[in-house]
Amino acid sequence: MKTFQQYLTTTEEIGFVEACNQSIVYVNGLPKATVQEIVMFETGELGVVLSLTRDQVEILLFSNYSVKAGTRVTRTGNKQEIPVGFELLGKAIDPFGQPLNENQTIEKAKISRPIDISPTGINTRAHIAQSFETGVTLVDMLIPLGKGQRELIIGDRKTGKTSFLYQTILKQASLGTICIYAGIGKKKTDIKKIESFFHASGIEKNTIIIASSSEDPAGIIYLTPYAAMTLAEYFRDEGHDVLIVMDDLFTHAKFYREIMLIGRRFPGRNAYPADIFYTHARLLERAGNFILPDGSEHAITCLPVVESVEGDIAGFIQTNLMSMTDGHLYFDVDMFTKGNRPAVNPFISVSRVGRQTQSPLRLTLNRELISFLTLHRKLESFSHFSAEAGSGIKRTLAVAERIFAFFNQAANEVRNLDLHIVIFCLLWSDYWQDIAKMEKDITVIQQTYKNSLEAQSLIKTLVSAAQSLNELLLTVRRQQDKILSTLGVQVVTVTNI
Ligand code: ATP
Ligand code: MG
Repeated sequence: MKTFQQYLTTTEEIGFVEACNQSIVYVNGLPKATVQEIVMFETGELGVVLSLTRDQVEILLFSNYSVKAGTRVTRTGNKQEIPVGFELLGKAIDPFGQPLNENQTIEKAKISRPIDISPTGINTRAHIAQSFETGVTLVDMLIPLGKGQRELIIGDRKTGKTSFLYQTILKQASLGTICIYAGIGKKKTDIKKIESFFHASGIEKNTIIIASSSEDPAGIIYLTPYAAMTLAEYFRDEGHDVLIVMDDLFTHAKFYREIMLIGRRFPGRNAYPADIFYTHARLLERAGNFILPDGSEHAITCLPVVESVEGDIAGFIQTNLMSMTDGHLYFDVDMFTKGNRPAVNPFISVSRVGRQTQSPLRLTLNRELISFLTLHRKLESFSHFSAEAGSGIKRTLAVAERIFAFFNQAANEVRNLDLHIVIFCLLWSDYWQDIAKMEKDITVIQQTYKNSLEAQSLIKTLVSAAQSLNELLLTVRRQQDKILSTLGVQVVTVTNI
C-alpha cells in the first residue's frame, strides 16, 4: 500500500469530506471516482466508494473512527482486492489478506483478485454429479449433499450448527478439499477456538480462516464473505475442490442493514433495504460446480449459516436465503434438548440436488429410511394417546429408538459412510436388541475399521457389490458372523438346548 501523498501524485485528484455519519462519509470532489474504488484519507484511513451522485461521492469507511469535515481524500485507482495464493493455507486472515495474529507473517502474495465480482454464467457450470460427504451419518444418509451444492444451515442459537460445520470441514479436509471458514463478525475467542481446532486436528494445511470480529467496522464485516468467495474461486481455478463455510449470513444481513440505513437507503420488508436479496444472491451464485477452461470440473460447495429465532424459519432473511440455496439443514432446538446430536430434523430439512449424486444402494437406503421414520413419526403421535400398542407398533418404536441412537455422534467424530451403511444393515436385521450393547459394539467396529486393512477391504467389497439395500441386507445376513468377526465383534452363538 502506498502513502496518501503517493496516491495523490499518481491520480492527481483530491476531494474534501463534507459530512460524516458514522461509517458513511460524503465527499466533494474526486471527479473520476468509480463505484467500488478504494479511496484513502490523509489520516491514513481507507474507504470504498458506495455510490456517486451529481455533486457528492458516498464512501463507506473501513475504520471505527469517523473522519472530520474538511479532511482531504484521494483515489487509489484500485478496486477492493485480496491477495490470493497457496501461502495463505493454514493461516487466519482478515478480509484484506492481513494476518489476524500479530506474530504470524504471510509471505507477500504475488497476485490479487477483486473481491466483488459478478457470478459467471451458465456456460461455465456443470451438472452436479458427485456426492459430498459430511462425515455426519444422519445427513449423509437422509439428506445427502452433492459437490457444488449450496446448503443452508439454519437453526436457533446453540443448536450445534458450528459443530456440524467442524465435522464437515474435518471430513472434507481429510479427502483433500480446500476448506475456507469465513467468520462474519464473530467473537475473537470464537475465531481462536476455530484456529486451535484446525491445529489440533492437523488439517491446517487444507484450511484458511478468513474472519472479521464483532469489534471491526461494519464495512469490513460486510466484505468478509465476498473476500472468502474470491479465495475459493482462486483455488478452484488452480484445480481444487473447495468447501466454503459462512458463519453466519444473518449477522452479515444485520451489518448490511446498518450500513444501508445510515446511508439513507429506503428500508424494505422488516426494514432490510430491498436489495439484501441481490446482495446475498450475487454472493451465493458464485458457488457451484464449474467447468474450467481445460475441461476439468471443480466445485465450490457452500454452506452458509443463518440463525433463526425461536424456531421461526419464515423470517425475511431466512426465507430469502432458502430461496437462493439448494436446500437447508434445519437444526431443531427441541431435538437438541431431547439429546439428539446432531439435532438435524430430517422432516424439515431439504436437499434439492444431493439425491441425484447417490449410488443406487444409497438411494434405496435413503428411501427406506425416510419412509420408516415417517411411519414412526405417525405412530409416535398415536402412542401419546396411550393406545394399546400391538407388537408391530412396539417393534417400529424400538427400531426407531435404535436408529436415533445409531445417528448420535460426538461433536468431533467423523464417520465413514460405507462402514455405517453395513452397520445399519446389522441394525435393520435386528442383530442388536439392546442399545447399550449396540453402542459398545459400534465403538469396537469403528476402532477395528480404522486399523485393519482387511476390514476396510471387506466393507468396500460389500458396498460396491450391492445394487440396492435389499441386496446388501441379504449378503450381510448370510455372512453376518464373518463380517462381525472381521470387524472385531465377538460373535456369541446361541445354541438351542
Ligand atoms: P451459536 O448460535 O453460538 O453459533 P451453534 O448453533 O453454532 O451456536 P454450537 O456452538 O456448534 O452451536 O454447539 C452448541 C453446544 O452444543 C456446544 O457446547 C457444543 O459442544 C454442543 N454440541 C454440538 N454438537 C454436539 C455433538 N454432536 N455432540 C456433543 N455436543 C455437541
Ligand atoms: Mg455457531
